[in-house]
Amino acid sequence: MTEPESFSLETEVLVVGAGYAGLTAAACLAERGTSVVVLEAADRVGGRVLSEVRPSGVRIDHGGQWIGPTQRRFRALAERFGCRTFPTWETGRNAEIWHDGTRLDYTGALPPSGPGAGEYERITALLDDLARTVDLERPWATPRFAELDRWSAEEFFRAETSDEAVLRRLSLAVQGVWCAEPREISFFHVLFYVASAGGYEQLMETRGCAQDARFSSGADAVARALARQLGERVRLGAPVLSMRQDARGVEARTERGVVRARRAIVAVPPAVVERIAFDPPLPADRLGWLRHNPMGRVAKVHAVYEEPFWRAAGQSGIATLYGENPVGVVFDNSPQDASRGVLVAFVYADRLDRWAALGAGDRRRAVLAALSEVVGERALRPLDYAEMIWPRTGWTAGGYECFATPGGWAGHGRAGWRAPTGRIHWAGTETASVWNGYIDGAISSGERAAAEVAARREAAGQLR
Ligand SMILES: Cc1cc2nc3c(=O)[nH]c(=O)nc-3n(C[C@H](O)[C@H](O)[C@H](O)COP(=O)(O)OP(=O)(O)OC[C@H]3O[C@@H](n4cnc5c(N)ncnc54)[C@H](O)[C@@H]3O)c2cc1C
Repeated sequence: MTEPESFSLETEVLVVGAGYAGLTAAACLAERGTSVVVLEAADRVGGRVLSEVRPSGVRIDHGGQWIGPTQRRFRALAERFGCRTFPTWETGRNAEIWHDGTRLDYTGALPPSGPGAGEYERITALLDDLARTVDLERPWATPRFAELDRWSAEEFFRAETSDEAVLRRLSLAVQGVWCAEPREISFFHVLFYVASAGGYEQLMETRGCAQDARFSSGADAVARALARQLGERVRLGAPVLSMRQDARGVEARTERGVVRARRAIVAVPPAVVERIAFDPPLPADRLGWLRHNPMGRVAKVHAVYEEPFWRAAGQSGIATLYGENPVGVVFDNSPQDASRGVLVAFVYADRLDRWAALGAGDRRRAVLAALSEVVGERALRPLDYAEMIWPRTGWTAGGYECFATPGGWAGHGRAGWRAPTGRIHWAGTETASVWNGYIDGAISSGERAAAEVAARREAAGQLR
């Protein structure tokens, strides 16, 4: 990788964004012998995946961290670069803490006698049934597409139940998976996403599902390995400010230089695409799609302790909190050798908005108070404490991913979701059909965009 400097480059393909999608697209093209330049706004690669070794010696993942067994593309890349994983800790009793302070300890996916548990399972089974009707490659071909997309998830849930406990469970599920409130998200998008993961359980559970394992060297290790392989093709600290295309090619400008290419792959989240000035302007459907795809709002907070003391008390450290305090979900994020104890707390959506507006001291007190409800008052005295408030990070504007609001798919999905705009192709996890929203989806989107570009090249006998 090179340090930022003035440049004027000619290449066959320009890739914008060095997250998993952009790096994969560039690596696929480079392996085919195509010349490629990657422009990345930040001073690092990895995008929404970022690992850090803390002063306490513990490595934490501020962004994406888990990998599941059916995330085949991510697994293949991790294996190729020798990046090892270890199972997520889930031994011991999980806890549910309700708004009235009630605490339920349980093992397994749900407390069988928990408030609203049976009805919640009925509704999530219904989600799975409806998700099986989704056409992942051509979502607009799904039966009842426009009708399902008109509803918000909240409208669907309220049509199914008026039980407040069930609604609280469903809300936390939406917050935990999409970092949004049920009123904000298209019900069709929920179904699409469930289908894209292979079922509701895949999204929610740990063993055998999306939260199955973590990386010994951080979840960005694979991205760093891809970037090393791409070498000087990757330019950091180079936000693309404008892109102009005509019949001959694409020209991208940054503050430091310009890149001219035959084609471009833009691999940045929908929520930040419009920070680039396009000439000619993007078509109406693409703009409509982008404007119906806001980013989720999430913070990840890590508290580090001398040891995972909750394990000795028979607790897993896994908790769901339905109350007014900021934290929605807690996991044990200790290193594999348990040399320290680490709890990670997730703060989502409306609760994030309220918590993020507090001063640093109040934020910390509120999170530690929530952790103490889960594992006891020792949680109030961490060795180390680290927050990452994703909506405040410059170049991705939130996390985990963008989600479609009601009417977005039916109004603009067909032409706006991922169809190329002239010589500009679109990648990024939000364009994936499988594991949309996840690292695995980012990787497959990079592969698809690279294949689109290569197909144009083969069709024309050259890159035109
Ligand atoms: C808190 C959190 C937890 C998550 N947990 C998981 C998890 O456990 N497992 C999982 O699989 N996924 C998880 N995800 C989601 C996962 O991180 C993303 O799906 C994935 O990293 C997206 O990759 P991407 O390449 O599509 O986009 P990004 O990673 O967002 O990459 C886009 C890149 O483009 C750059 N960029 C933006 N604008 C410009 C510009 N104008 N010019 C140049 N560069 C630009 C950005 O700096 C960024 O590097 C999580 C995400 C977050 C935030």
